[in-house]
Amino acid sequence: MKCTRCRKTAHVSLPSHHSGFCAECYPLFFTRQVETAIRRQKMFTFDDRILVALSGGKDSLSLMLELHLLGYDVTGLHIDLGIPNSSDKARKKVEDFCALHGLALRVFEMAAWGLPIPDVKAHVKRPVCAVCGKLKRHHFNRIAVEEGFDVLATGHNLDDEVARLFANTLRWDTAYLSDQGPVLPASDGFVRKVKPLFRLSEYETANYAFLKGIEIHSDPCPYSGGASFTAHKELWGELEHRSPGQKLQFYQAFLKNGKPAFAQLEKETGAQLAPCAECGSPTSAGTCSVCRIREAVRQSREQAE
Ligand code: SF4
Ligand code: ZN
Repeated sequence: MKCTRCRKTAHVSLPSHHSGFCAECYPLFFTRQVETAIRRQKMFTFDDRILVALSGGKDSLSLMLELHLLGYDVTGLHIDLGIPNSSDKARKKVEDFCALHGLALRVFEMAAWGLPIPDVKAHVKRPVCAVCGKLKRHHFNRIAVEEGFDVLATGHNLDDEVARLFANTLRWDTAYLSDQGPVLPASDGFVRKVKPLFRLSEYETANYAFLKGIEIHSDPCPYSGGASFTAHKELWGELEHRSPGQKLQFYQAFLKNGKPAFAQLEKETGAQLAPCAECGSPTSAGTCSVCRIREAVRQSREQAE
């Protein structure tokens, strides 16, 4: 196959775009997809201060590098989860990456906050990933709001978004369906959240990270279960293989035809938010789920003593 742009031998084949690119031209394709996402979804401007959530994986580091190269004002935020033999490696990749490219970085330590993820696993009777995800989202938002950032960007790619949309659809979870999308506008206590890689698949991001020589943290988290999420991604991989372009079509049709209806439904029937009695974060209950998790761990620790 020849490169769609320069006719040299293509290294990356993209059936869903009816194209292929050589190593030099591929990053230009990637950049165009990110620019299109930012422009069409009105994600942010060059005047905005952007906080980028950095896990150390290919998606978040690729996003950070690309936004930086495009000239946006980016600061990285890494949450050190305190998981032995894992979090220290992820943190090192993020710190080395930011140092190499001269990028601003904040690191927040769950252990210093009093709740490393191994303690969540030991003391909370819910799946650790559900709680870990909730805590990470809480701190990303809190830090963005407290430090006056205009927008929080995450590295979710098309495969992440489609797998999540599919899971939400299987449950007809109207609250999540009304919220899902590449842009979540700012509201009381919540910073605007954006996903500039939503048009790019996992494969496409992996190629960008590889061609840009980004050193990524690729070891799986020792606590990762994610069985249904992984199964949904495999299912969609099969559909995409049979019918290239299906994933982006499914997602974009949802944004156009499904999301507005769910958003309207939630507006009419959804829960009202008010500040948490403990920490002030917006919540539909009197005390937010993060404060309730902290309290549950405190009680469990006391009983264990
Ligand atoms: Fe947290 Fe689960 Fe992800 Fe590990 S796999 S970082 S525990 S959400
Ligand atoms: Zn709270």
